Amino acid sequence: HVDVMTALVSFDRVFEVLDLKPLIRDREDARPLGERRAPAGNGAGPSLAKAPSVQFDHVRFAYPAADEVSLASLESIARTDTSPSREVLHDVDFRAEPGQLVALVGPSGAGKSTITHLVSRLYDVSGGAVRVGGADVRDVTLESLRAEIGVVSQDAHLFHDSIRENMRYARPDATDEEILAAVEAAHIGDLVADMPDGLDTVVGDRGYRLSGGEKQRLAIARLLLKAPSVVVLDEATAHLDSESEAAVQRALRTALAGRTSLVIAHRLSTIREADQILVIENGRVAERGRHEELLLQGGLYAELYRTQFSHQRDGRQTEPLGAE
Ligand code: ATP
Repeated sequence: HVDVMTALVSFDRVFEVLDLKPLIRDREDARPLGERRAPAGNGAGPSLAKAPSVQFDHVRFAYPAADEVSLASLESIARTDTSPSREVLHDVDFRAEPGQLVALVGPSGAGKSTITHLVSRLYDVSGGAVRVGGADVRDVTLESLRAEIGVVSQDAHLFHDSIRENMRYARPDATDEEILAAVEAAHIGDLVADMPDGLDTVVGDRGYRLSGGEKQRLAIARLLLKAPSVVVLDEATAHLDSESEAAVQRALRTALAGRTSLVIAHRLSTIREADQILVIENGRVAERGRHEELLLQGGLYAELYRTQFSHQRDGRQTEPLGAE
């Protein structure tokens, strides 16, 4: 009869798992990530207290396979060991100090996005630990963790709604003044001021037409409004004209200042400014260092630089190797 009970409980859990996919949820004793927000400030949202470090401590990771998830649930939801063949991150170890900009570069499929997903705990690691502000992300509440992290993905998504509502998505209680300050800080204030209905202007599909660079700056304004202490950014690869490029770059500099940032970098200016560049290859950190150091090593980074970064704008603007 004990076996029957176990089986029934497990059966329930299978359905729970099938419904919810991998179960990432708070531990019963999860506590909020340390108090990091200062009282509401002026300008573009709450002022920031000190940004936390982000540390990967010998992280191994395999995406859960569907059969594995339900098998694990029959034994214990918490089981995480997985076959090494599907492991996509092997012993990834680094530390972004508070306020640092860490650039992730590397070939397609190397594991860069996977690394950024683990910071927000979209999945749990198979080995090692991810720490934010020294706390294992599995020990803190998901709500408090994700409140600290601002994520900007490749294609800045705007809803078919007003600028105001698109911005309030980041912070529902934001006032018009706060929204305008964020928009200004993201170097898109002039455009919004010139729009037919200001903050009421409807953007997104079938709305006011925005260029790629303008959409990116609105996404950055949204990030500024959220004012997270950690930023996870997948830089857009889309080619922008050099004027938009420069405006986006200025907006990004504002957005990343004072925040601990992990950036999947596609822009030469970002990797040049990075405090650390991690070259990811086959789920490992193959090389690490600053731009000049890595160029001198003449390894994978130097190769990536030649093939992806050195001529990314247009032929005329190619900068000679090592020039600052
Ligand atoms: P890109 O530059 O092309 O975006 P990347 O370096 O970000 O690549 P990841 O997207 O992290 O690489 O992928 C790393 C590995 O994990 C790849 O082998 C990929 O096929 C695999 N992978 C990514 N997402 C999933 C998923 N949801 N389920 C299973 N495997 C995945």
